[in-house]
Amino acid sequence: MTDFNWHNPKLRKLAEQITIFFPAKLRAQYIETLEDADDQYALFRYHSSKRKQQSLRKSARNAVRYAISMGRLQRSDICSECGRRVKVEAHHLDYKKRFEITWLCRDCHVDKHRVS
Ligand SMILES: [Zn+2]
Ligand SMILES: [Zn+2]
Repeated sequence: MTDFNWHNPKLRKLAEQITIFFPAKLRAQYIETLEDADDQYALFRYHSSKRKQQSLRKSARNAVRYAISMGRLQRSDICSECGRRVKVEAHHLDYKKRFEITWLCRDCHVDKHRVS
C-alpha cells in the first residue's frame, strides 16, 4: 500500500474542502478511506460511490412510498427487531432490492445504520 500523496495540490485542496463541508464523524470516515487508498483517485471514487448510494437510497425509498400508496405494500406496525408496536420505518439491506424491507422502529433503525 502506498502512502496517500498529500503533496498533490489538487488533492490537498479537496482534503481542505472536506474539513469545511463534512461533519466531524463523516470526516473521520473519509480520512480513513483516504489512508487506505492505494492511489490518488480515492477521493473521486469515494465521492462517486457515495453519490450513487444516495441516489439508490432515494429511489428505493420512493418505490416503497409509492407501493404503500398504491396498496401493494403494507406498512407493518411492529418493529421486527425489538417487537414494539410503534411507528416503523422501511430499512433496506440492499437498496437495489427495493422491496426487500425490514420494518424497524426509529431506535432500531438508527442502530442498524450505526453498525453497518
Ligand atoms: Zn425496534
Ligand atoms: Zn435503513
